[in-house]
Amino acid sequence: MPDLTCIYCLRDVPAEGFNTEHVISQAFGTFESNLTLTDMVCRSCNQYFGDNLERVFARDSFEAYYRITTNLRPAEHIRAMPQRRLTLTAAPGAEWEGLRLALIAAGGDAAVTLEPQVGLPKTASRGWTYLTGPELADRARPLPADFDRQGHIHVIGPTGEVR
Ligand SMILES: [Zn+2]
Repeated sequence: MPDLTCIYCLRDVPAEGFNTEHVISQAFGTFESNLTLTDMVCRSCNQYFGDNLERVFARDSFEAYYRITTNLRPAEHIRAMPQRRLTLTAAPGAEWEGLRLALIAAGGDAAVTLEPQVGLPKTASRGWTYLTGPELADRARPLPADFDRQGHIHVIGPTGEVR
């Protein structure tokens, strides 16, 4: 059998170097008429997209959250979500604007909780800038330019206490 050409990397590869590409990742369900590409995507490209695109999409995105709310994955899988790309904050205009939240599993459902964080008052407005522990520990990250150093800071613990 002659070599096949991968549609992504355009390399000519022996046929055994190809596998089946699911156009819609199986992480989002299996479908009766799921579109697959056979002998079109080399294993190397398929592995690359699986590791660098589908994994992130399926585990650290709103789509990952929807996998849980639509019961494709149990709520306990929230613990495996890195929550680096998917971050939650209180909306602009809310009393606690910018407050950082984290997804958790609670009683078999997805819920949110407060992340341990520090609120730094702003000089130019009544608002706050909230920073999590890892953000505070990042020495390369400067404190916000509008940090009111004369004001009181909020230290918010995992149970929601504010000091
Ligand atoms: Zn390829």
